[in-house]
Amino acid sequence: MKVSLAKALLNQRCPTCREGKMFKTSSFNLHFMEMNEKCPHCQVMLEPEPGFYQGAMYVGYAFSVAIVVAVSLLVKIVDINSPWISIGIVSVITLLLVPFNFRYSRVLFLYMFGGLQGKART
Ligand SMILES: [Zn+2]
Repeated sequence: MKVSLAKALLNQRCPTCREGKMFKTSSFNLHFMEMNEKCPHCQVMLEPEPGFYQGAMYVGYAFSVAIVVAVSLLVKIVDINSPWISIGIVSVITLLLVPFNFRYSRVLFLYMFGGLQGKART
């Protein structure tokens, strides 16, 4: 049975077979940016064309804005009066979420624009 699209996306799996891992290491590793060139399961190229992931920066930017807005609202609700502490909290949380932002922006971009669904070579 094929894994659902949402589950494959959340687990950062290849959009074609939904089994092979897109990244070489876990999100908590310092080498969190290293991607597999090909899917280890179905061998499809995970970078459809050179420079493909430059477009993922726009997705990452949208994620960053969403994170900053969400954390800013939380800081506002908690009612921290010092602007420097608020900026510090928002900055630290945004920096801690960089690996997730980086990875999910690439995963989402590949799922949306990679055109890899149905290209399995089995
Ligand atoms: Zn695959």
